[in-house]
Amino acid sequence: MSFEYKINRKKTREISVGDVKIGAGNPIVVQTMTNTLTSDAKATLEQIERCVKAGAEVIRVSVPDKESTDAMREISKNSPVPIIADVHFHYKRGIEAAQNGAKCLRINPGTIGSIDRAKEVVKAAKDNGCSIRIGVNAGSLEEKLLEKYQEPCPDALLESAMESVKILEDLDFYQTKISVKASDVMLAIKSYELLSAACDYPLHLGITEAGTRNIGTVRSSIGLGHLLMQGIGDTMRVSLSISPEEEIAVAYDILKSLKLRNRGVNIISCPSCARQQFDVCKTIAKIEAATAHIVKPISISVLGCVVNGIGEAKHTNIGITGAGSGQHLVYINGKPDHKIPAGSDVADHVIKLALEMDNE
Ligand code: SF4
Repeated sequence: MSFEYKINRKKTREISVGDVKIGAGNPIVVQTMTNTLTSDAKATLEQIERCVKAGAEVIRVSVPDKESTDAMREISKNSPVPIIADVHFHYKRGIEAAQNGAKCLRINPGTIGSIDRAKEVVKAAKDNGCSIRIGVNAGSLEEKLLEKYQEPCPDALLESAMESVKILEDLDFYQTKISVKASDVMLAIKSYELLSAACDYPLHLGITEAGTRNIGTVRSSIGLGHLLMQGIGDTMRVSLSISPEEEIAVAYDILKSLKLRNRGVNIISCPSCARQQFDVCKTIAKIEAATAHIVKPISISVLGCVVNGIGEAKHTNIGITGAGSGQHLVYINGKPDHKIPAGSDVADHVIKLALEMDNE
């Protein structure tokens, strides 16, 4: 008998961002956002390449000016994954981005000034096969909603999102996904819960401005993890104050922890203690760095002694224990496979096994 916890994902509508299907039970799509100048197409494409290598499946770029939407032509043409153009207020940038190859527009029809403008944006989206993400953010709520609710709150974020949904539906547009982001974890959770109950559009999850690597990872894990466990969420971004390519690894770690995606190396390691028979922390850091490029799902357990080492090794592709009787036990696919003498370089041995497994 084996323990299995299955998350029942909410069945949302399916939409497309280029050739990437989102919603309706498709795998949760991991995305990030470039931080180069979009007008510098070369630098942006180089960063996109690094992000795709790290696992980004769609990438958002800001288009704050005409130079950026002009650069979109080259970026969209050469990007290996679909590009989402991030538009704030300037509806013409949305039209230009759609015409220049963006596969999704992040724009809030309720905040671009008039229905006529929304009509123009929707026409450009339809003509160019673009979807639209309504991206409500607690930090930039409409004045009228702040007056009505006095502060950003779940009902205000929901109302903002649903107003934009109505504008799009009135224009017969349904290729829509929605986000209601906030840096306050509880505010974001509650807002997404309300939104998920109010519509069946796919939802893009994020704890916005989550902060630095450490606290931002904690906030994102709590917020996104709570929602994902309820089956909410079709695409996600972890927003950290580190390079975009690095935040992708955190997104996958959240999804791997919930068994919602299975990509790359999944490491189980002990915190080490006085029983450790080699330096666990240094070893695992070396293994993590040397296997970060692997895409094939491979689980690795590295424990400092035999106390829990064998139990964990039985459930991983590569498992190694401390050298209890002068030898490290090495398990392959849950079975005892061979031994290496105490004092061996555990990191080098595990890295070699992982690279071989990756090439099988
Ligand atoms: S596995 Fe062994 S070395 Fe690691 S923390 Fe547990 S008892 Fe300590």
